[in-house]
Formats: sequence, C-alpha cells, structure tokens
Amino acid sequence: MKTPRDVLEFVNKENIRVIDLRFMDFPGLWQHFSVPAHEIDEDAFEEGLGFDGSSIRGWQAINESDMLVKPVAETAFVDPFFAEKTLVMICNICDPITGEEYTRDPRNIARKAEAFVQGSGIADTAFFGPEAEFFIFDDIRFDQNVQSGYYFIDSVEGRWNTGRQEDPNLGYKPRYKEGYFPVPPTDSMQDIRTEMMLTMEDLGIDIECQHHEVASGGQAEIDMRFAPLVEMSDKMLKYKYVIKNVAKKHGKTVTFMPKPLWNDNGTGMHVHLSLWRDGENLFAGDGYAGMSEQAMYAIGGVLKHAPALLAFTNPTTNSYKRLVPGFEAPVNLAYSSRNRSAAVRIPMYSNSPKAKRFEFRCPDPSCNPYLAFSAMLMAAADGIVNKIDPGEALDKDIYDLPPEEMAKVDKTPESLHAALMALKADHEFLLKGDVFTQDVIDTWIEYKMENEVQALALRPHPWEFALYYDI
Ligand code: GLU
Ligand code: MG
Ligand code: MG
Repeated sequence: MKTPRDVLEFVNKENIRVIDLRFMDFPGLWQHFSVPAHEIDEDAFEEGLGFDGSSIRGWQAINESDMLVKPVAETAFVDPFFAEKTLVMICNICDPITGEEYTRDPRNIARKAEAFVQGSGIADTAFFGPEAEFFIFDDIRFDQNVQSGYYFIDSVEGRWNTGRQEDPNLGYKPRYKEGYFPVPPTDSMQDIRTEMMLTMEDLGIDIECQHHEVASGGQAEIDMRFAPLVEMSDKMLKYKYVIKNVAKKHGKTVTFMPKPLWNDNGTGMHVHLSLWRDGENLFAGDGYAGMSEQAMYAIGGVLKHAPALLAFTNPTTNSYKRLVPGFEAPVNLAYSSRNRSAAVRIPMYSNSPKAKRFEFRCPDPSCNPYLAFSAMLMAAADGIVNKIDPGEALDKDIYDLPPEEMAKVDKTPESLHAALMALKADHEFLLKGDVFTQDVIDTWIEYKMENEVQALALRPHPWEFALYYDI
C-alpha cells in the first residue's frame, strides 16, 4: 500500500473495522491506540488525529499536551496477533497549533537525518543492517518479583535468578558459551524462532537467517536484510513486536536487555552501514579491506564520536555490563577487517563492491533505533565532511595486546553516566541540519540521568546484600 487511497480501498475490500495507530515514545517503546475504521478517511492522513501527548515518556515537558498522529500509508500492515482483523499504521507526530512536525518524535529525527545526508550531497541512501540478539526465557512473573523488590541470586551459578526455570535433567542444556549452534534437542528454540521468522516474512520483512546464539540459556539471533534508515527503524519495531508476541503465545518471554545474565554472553545489535549514490556503493574502493577513502572517513567519524554516540546506541545502565572483555562484545574503540574484538569491523564475506560496508559492534537492542541509527549516520557524515582519519587498523587480537599497546587504544565508556557526559561535551555533529535539536539532546540526557542512572543508584542492589548483609 502506497497511498491513503490504497489503504482505504484495502480497508473496504477486506472489511477491516479497526485501525491501530502506532508511534515511538522517546526512550524507544512502541505506543498505540485504536480507532474504528470509519474514523480514518483521506483527511485523517492530512490533518491527523488528536491524542494527549503529556503522558508519553520524555514528552512531558511540552507545554501543549495535545498532539496529532498522522498515519503513514506505506507503513500499513495487518496485525498478526489481534483477534479482530486490524490494520496497523505507523504515524508521525505533529503539533496541532503550529502544524509542525514534533522535534522530539524519534521518527521525525530519523527522517531529518536521511534528508540531511541527501541534502548535503554525502549520499542518497544510507543502508542499515542491524543484527539484533535476544534471550527467550520461561514466562513466570519475573516482572512482579522485580517490582516488589524481591530478587534472589542462584547460589550455585552466582547468577541472578531471572525466572528461567530448568528441568531437572540438563543433559541437553547448551554448554556454557556453546549455544552457537548445535542442532536440537540441544537447540530447543528452533520452532519458536522459525515462527518468529515466518511471521516477519508475512509482514514484508526480509529475513536472512535465524539461529541460536552463544549464551547457554535460549539466546537467539534473527537477522533482517538491510534497508534505508527510516524503513529499517520501522522494521526494527515490528521485529521486536513480532518476537515478543510469538514468545508470549508459547508461554515464553523475550528480553532485549543487553546483559540479562551475569558472566555469560550479552545481547548485542551489531549495525552494518553503507552509503550509496546513484546505485553505487560509496564504501567500495581499493583501500584497506577493499574500502574507499570515504568509508575510512566514515569509520573515523564513528570512532571519534563513539563515547557520545553510545548514549544513543547503548542507552541503558545495563548496556555497560555487556561492554566488558571476554564475551565477544567490543570494549576497544578501534577498527579491523579480521577482528571481532574491535568496535568497528569490516566484514570480508564477499569482495563484491555491493557488499562493502562496516559493522559497528557496540550498539545493543535496548536502543531506540530511530535515534541510534540517526546518531550513527551523523557521526559517519561528520567523518566524511571533516575527513577524519581513523588511524591504523588493529589487526591483532586486541584482547591479547601487551599492556603498553593496550593503553594506547581508546575504550568504550564505562557507564551510561559516562556516555551521557560524553554526549553533553560532544554533540555538535548531531545538531547539523537541525536533525537532533539542542532540546532533544538536553532532554535525552536529563531523562536518562533522572529515570535510569539516578533511579538505579538510589536503590539497594541485590549484590550489595551478598557483599554487605553480614558485615
Ligand atoms: N553477543 C555478542 C555481543 O554481545 C555478539 C556475538 C556475535 O558476534 O554475534 O555483541
Ligand atoms: Mg550474534
Ligand atoms: Mg555481526
């Protein structure tokens, strides 16, 4: 469906009686409300529908709480989970008084980021390929335990008890760090991942593969085929929606939090990026690993701004529990074609110019994809415009470098607090073209500090009980 008319014809032909309208809040959770189909006519696409924006996370400060959602026809899809056949559309957010697009709407920021690279002549398309991972756990009332402050630590493995229930015979349990990837019965999640994959394909999301991941407790990965920034961000939201709801159907629950299990592999979302103009991949060339000069500058921009960038690509306190040595997650701000321990890797699967891209390994799926991809693109664009040299490649195993060499390699920030402070000091590159406004940067930092960094710091931690209860 391309136009409002296509949508209305489809609604009519399929006798659809409910239309569900969705948009992204500031931290990154899909929101929705439904209307009877007769509420949506061609004018609704132009003029929007009103809702109270004051209770949406991160938007509270707006003086005028009435907001408008404007459905985007080409995002329409039939929801695969509702009992009543329901058409869903993703919406843009507008201010009803000024009629302007809302500056804190993450989708608006992503649209401006795309327009910025096009308008500045850097590229006409930026392709994003996120590789999100996640954990599938048994669905017991973990949420209630957390909210009531009732946590406990597994006395044998020294792990948090996350509500994962093991059967007594663990003979087919994936061995520690050996989840990647024996066949069933060790892999007990094949059917559920397949259902997730095929449900997504039915929604027009092209999937490249699905597999069990390294961690022992139902860690999974499903990879989508790359797409332009806004389209991929929209898909990322559908992706999480499908995965969580298929899991729920099977009495399971999925988490995208980056480090649910202490001392096991965490959950990353490596993001592949390439820039194209007139059907040509601007990253293909004859330099290092078959990359162009522009690609190197783009990597230079991403590495230079990485500490600030991580405030968007790794935006939770839990993100920094993943970015530690020993679990295939990057901690060193360097690049390499061979080395998966570098923050930026240049995959060598194919020599075809079309396949040239780099992989930023820091991001995790707790991010708001609209904001994370936009910030990444702005850092790459800054690298290209200012010809930022990424330095020498680190083609040794970074984890094995001698300490004096290691000391020269910059590190990822140690905490969300540190990343937010880096963002406070370094955000000019995000303000270009008014993509991220100063208000968006300030609100992001304030929101994350108050609701996450400080909120966590104020609460007694379960491990503090282990350390200090008997003191
Ligand atoms: N789970 C690892 C991470 O935290 C990535 C494993 C992989 O290379 O796919 O980034
Ligand atoms: Mg993986
Ligand atoms: Mg990868």
